[in-house]
Amino acid sequence: MSKDLSPSAKKQLAARVSYYREMGIYDFYRRPSDEGVQIPLAAAPEPAHEVTDASPLPVIQDKPSALKAIREDIGDCTRCRLHKGRKNIVFGVGNMNADLMFVGEGPGADEDEQGEPFVGRAGQLLNNMISAMGLKREDVYIANVVKCRPPGNRTPEKDECDICSPFLLRQIETIQPKVIVALGAVAAKNLLAMNDSMANLRGRWYDFRGSKLAVTYHPAYLLRDPRQKKETWKDLQMVMKYLGLKPPPKSAEE
Ligand code: SF4
Repeated sequence: MSKDLSPSAKKQLAARVSYYREMGIYDFYRRPSDEGVQIPLAAAPEPAHEVTDASPLPVIQDKPSALKAIREDIGDCTRCRLHKGRKNIVFGVGNMNADLMFVGEGPGADEDEQGEPFVGRAGQLLNNMISAMGLKREDVYIANVVKCRPPGNRTPEKDECDICSPFLLRQIETIQPKVIVALGAVAAKNLLAMNDSMANLRGRWYDFRGSKLAVTYHPAYLLRDPRQKKETWKDLQMVMKYLGLKPPPKSAEE
């Protein structure tokens, strides 16, 4: 049987649930508690599933624990149809204290194989872009809107993005980067909930959950149309200016 919570714990629980709902997270799962204490749901507004976490409840977790909890919540996910063809869930990689976070749309074949985002040819180009900004790949955090490879590298569909993106939002909320760069239209449109052309989405700042967000071309698109590298460099320079980054002399000329 579950024990009653104190009024203050109920209030904190309700605030926590409300916080997750605001991020678009509606599914909650109960983890076993060491002390056998179960948290009643009376204070939560109609969650789709059972809440919650082991005690103590509404504690702000440290970043490694928070990211670990997100990965555990994803589990061996079958929430959307993309689970059918994947080899690996591609969670995200990089510096959890990064000022800069890149968000792509979803894993490709190499990423699916290795379980890490941006490791194929597009990943190499992203690494070059990061170097041109005077940073290393290990300095930034990299993730995707969907964590499983869409079949044939097709664009992830809206319902797939809607189902998976709460995990990305939790990653962003945990890392709290100063700047997020949305790579390509799918990432930009999903994060910003805007349906506009890349031409209109690029070249400006957006306020996004306490971070600044900029939009640029996806490296895979740049491989197909290298003429847009110049435009991408302009976007990255905007980010560098905001973060106070200086390019290494060689990269600045590329
Ligand atoms: S893409 Fe996301 S929601 Fe869909 S199965 Fe993979 S982890 Fe789950």
